[in-house]
Amino acid sequence: MSKKGMMVILSAPSGCGKDTVFREISKIRNDVCESISATTRNPRNGEIDGVSYYFKTVDEFKKMIENSSFLEYVCYNGCYYGTPAEPVRNIINSGKICFLIIEREGAQKVMKSNPDAVSIFLLPPDLDTLKKRLIKRNTETEDAISNRLEIAKEEIKCSDLFDYVVVNNELKRAVYEINEILDNELKKRNS
Ligand code: 5GP
Repeated sequence: MSKKGMMVILSAPSGCGKDTVFREISKIRNDVCESISATTRNPRNGEIDGVSYYFKTVDEFKKMIENSSFLEYVCYNGCYYGTPAEPVRNIINSGKICFLIIEREGAQKVMKSNPDAVSIFLLPPDLDTLKKRLIKRNTETEDAISNRLEIAKEEIKCSDLFDYVVVNNELKRAVYEINEILDNELKKRNS
């Protein structure tokens, strides 16, 4: 019997280190892939179209909505973000683990439409640490950072809706815990 793939939703407030955690996991496992989202926000320095995101105009994004191209999409912090459905299906059908690294509202939509998905919420050690991380990233205005912190407070309230909650206090520890979750979930599905 061929090995089954699975969908993993990794959600966390912006600045919690979801991308870093995924990067570390992909260094130690060769069965994980990341879904590349589409967004209407402007690229940041160093971001590459088709690698970091598919950068779209609002019109292009709306066309994709009309064509039912998204597994989920949201308007977050004034911009659209969405998960193209087909690549996710292809990754899972190939027997791999497809990570959706998305904010809470989109995560909840996917949890509803795909009850088989494993959902993980990454928590910052505290809001002060999160604020410092957002400031250190130096990619956002003060207003945008305050807005992201307000969104973060709301997102954290919903963390108990997820299958697993992992605190990203120490990167190595968080990666270890998520790696264990993946192994256990795969064992359940393939036994
Ligand atoms: P950023 O602008 O910092 O790249 O992303 C802002 C937030 O949107 C982050 O929490 C990120 O995980 C989330 N995000 C990225 N892509 C998607 C997506 O396709 N759908 C949803 N719902 N959120 C996304």
